[in-house]
Amino acid sequence: MRRIGVLALQGAFDAHRRVLTALGVEAPLVRNTRDLEGLDAIVLPGGESTTMLRFLARDGLFEALGEFVAARPALGTCAGLILLAREVEPHQPSLGALDLTVARNAYGRQRDSKVLRGETRLPGGPFEMVFIRAPRITLLGAGVEVLARRGDDPVLVRQGNAIGCAFHPELGGDDRVHRLLIEACESN
Ligand code: GLN
Repeated sequence: MRRIGVLALQGAFDAHRRVLTALGVEAPLVRNTRDLEGLDAIVLPGGESTTMLRFLARDGLFEALGEFVAARPALGTCAGLILLAREVEPHQPSLGALDLTVARNAYGRQRDSKVLRGETRLPGGPFEMVFIRAPRITLLGAGVEVLARRGDDPVLVRQGNAIGCAFHPELGGDDRVHRLLIEACESN
């Protein structure tokens, strides 16, 4: 059985775990470096990236996670996308698995969070995208593939084994983004 860990320091980790479990994947929660052992992939959920960074600063977890996402598949959603980015505006530490810049909270305040339908290159038609104080991808490296957009902005991207998602696929009732991660495990 595939084992895809879900970083569970803070935020929306439980909904990810439910989607993965429904797809037949074992989804242990990750809270320290030892929890990374034996995982095929990891999900970095939404939440508050600054709070997650405070927890990641303990016991070398930030460094261990950096090594993990450089070698194995990872899905970062919302705050998780911020963690996977190469650059964050305003600046904060990040893991650099995706060659892009994100601006935090760039679509407005909490009350402006919304559900949109957006076009995607994935089979199965448009996505329902739940945006909650979402980051905006402002710069994209040449090696990053865009799989979905909100207007002109990329909101679902992939580079090698790393998948970044500005919305919350675990809340939209559509498991295609999680399936992408499982496929990445198969080709890794
Ligand atoms: N605004 C959050 C951050 O900057 C991300 C929001 C989310 O994950 N829903 O970390």
